[in-house]
Amino acid sequence: MRVQQERAGERGSIPPSTSRTKTHKRRKIRYGRVIIALMLLVLFVTGITYVFFGMTHWIKSVVAPPPITVIEQPAKLGMIQVTPDAKEEPARFQGQVRKLAYITFDDGPTEYTEQLLDILKQHEAKATFFMIGRQLNQHPEAVKRLLKEGSYPGLHSMTHNYKKLYKSGSSANFVKEFKKEQKMVQDLIGFTPHLIRAPYGSSPQIGEKFRGDIAAAGFKMWDWTTDSLDWNLPGQPDKIVARVSKSVHRDKEVILMHEREQTVQALPRILKLLEDRGYEFEVYDPDAHWVANFSGDTRL
Ligand SMILES: [Zn+2]
Repeated sequence: MRVQQERAGERGSIPPSTSRTKTHKRRKIRYGRVIIALMLLVLFVTGITYVFFGMTHWIKSVVAPPPITVIEQPAKLGMIQVTPDAKEEPARFQGQVRKLAYITFDDGPTEYTEQLLDILKQHEAKATFFMIGRQLNQHPEAVKRLLKEGSYPGLHSMTHNYKKLYKSGSSANFVKEFKKEQKMVQDLIGFTPHLIRAPYGSSPQIGEKFRGDIAAAGFKMWDWTTDSLDWNLPGQPDKIVARVSKSVHRDKEVILMHEREQTVQALPRILKLLEDRGYEFEVYDPDAHWVANFSGDTRL
């Protein structure tokens, strides 16, 4: 009986202390479940986020247009050479290969020419300007100033008109325009430039015979090694700087830029990055001519 009572007591009348322990255990189990539920929730949310961002990235890569690919004319790279009879600039200074950056500005003179000259001055740099003949008389003071400050007044045709310059396939109009412009510069500033840059570059519109005609008329012709694409990036000076930064690596760089507002904005940073990479700024020197055309044509 006693045993039965004890057993009954065990089952029926639970001592208060034991009852609290069980309640604690139930609470613990409940908390445990809540924590597990929370952990599952966190895992679920993390998973969804991961999948969502993964999808977004994937969708972007599918929907977004591909980045602008820059078509570099293959002939323009690695074709630059020093003409055998040209007076070479010293390639080394104190045992180090000199790195030279030729800054060039096309399509001037413009309202921006003097601003460009101000920035160049701050960096003790000079540049080669390839100017359009029919704009010369709109900014004569700027043309005089650039020569005075050691920059080079290069030629870039009278009209910059593709049809007029190239469509016939003959060099006649091209040479005529450059001769006319050369005379204009001579009359304006008393200096006769011989270096030209063909509008739109020399390749592919200028063939071997055409190049021979340009040389026979007494001109030299420069294209470029680095295209800043500045003309195509209005309001985006950061991209112009990035483009130049990515492209420059040669010991001699001829950097194509244009007289545009965004170029004025980008120029201080471009000059700074070139300085930081050890480049010296050079201006075209007729007495130390070297070949920088896409065809590597040593006549030019
Ligand atoms: Zn141009």
